[in-house]
Amino acid sequence: MNPVALITGASRGIGRGIALALAKLGHDLVINYAGNAAAAGQTVSDCVAAAKAGGAQIRAEVCQADISQGADRTRLMQFTRETWGRLDLLVNNAGVAPDVRADILDASEESFDRVIAINVKGPYFLTQLAAKWMIEQCSRRGNEADAFAKAIPPRYLGGYKPKIVTISSISAYTASTNRGDYCVSKAALSMLTPLFAARLAANGINVYEIRPGVIATDMTGGVKEKYDKLIAGGLTPIQRWGTPEDVGRAVAAIASEAFPFSTGEVINVDGGFHLRRL
Ligand code: NAP
Repeated sequence: MNPVALITGASRGIGRGIALALAKLGHDLVINYAGNAAAAGQTVSDCVAAAKAGGAQIRAEVCQADISQGADRTRLMQFTRETWGRLDLLVNNAGVAPDVRADILDASEESFDRVIAINVKGPYFLTQLAAKWMIEQCSRRGNEADAFAKAIPPRYLGGYKPKIVTISSISAYTASTNRGDYCVSKAALSMLTPLFAARLAANGINVYEIRPGVIATDMTGGVKEKYDKLIAGGLTPIQRWGTPEDVGRAVAAIASEAFPFSTGEVINVDGGFHLRRL
């Protein structure tokens, strides 16, 4: 019996890195995506192969859903219920940058609404749905939960409780005046973790935020040269681009029950970007 993880935006980039790390850990997966079915399918086969190479047997299924849409969020959760009958880990990863980087004096309301709907409203209400189901699972399972806890491999350090992880950004506290809507969305998203952590602790559900720095994905592909120069110039104490694998490893640490007495915690995966230096 494997724990089940639902990862939003897992077709590409950071979400794909998280899916691969969780597959290696032996999680069954729901790979959510918005429009790129081919990439989602590739993630599924790569996850199954990565798990197999490490001696684990997992299943991964694809589910298209636009997380900014209420009906899609409900369908995504319903798909997870019907496919696996349980949810042990929700990873709120899907997110977008504005289509156009525009000065905050000119940026449009349409862009603001789109970015907020996907980056904030989507994860907020998906977490609400997941949390209710996790609470229901915890209270309903009883003996079944005990059996599950006994059946899981020792790499989970002796227990497995439902968890929620949200991928925010250094943009939660860093001003980029040519993508204000993105920064505002990530600052707002950063309140999701303390809220749900406080609400769900009594139910045994821990909630975490991972705050990535500059990570090499399609999202940053268009500004590669700019960031190459900034990194070479000392932007981050650890002088390299971050990778989806860096973020995946942090999520896998949480998923392997490495932090049972921590909730509402922010884990920076940013090469030390957040450090004040003199
Ligand atoms: P990416 O390479 O552009 O991938 C975005 C993923 O999200 C894709 O799987 C995409 O699906 C999915 N997606 C987009 N809109 C969606 C929607 N409405 N509903 C469901 N899925 C949707 O981006 P990334 O760099 O991996 O970023 C992932 C997360 O990390 C985002 O929240 C981003 O803000 C955050 N982040 C990124 C960086 C960075 O430097 N890259 C740094 C800090 C934080 P399709 O393939 O179907 O389009």
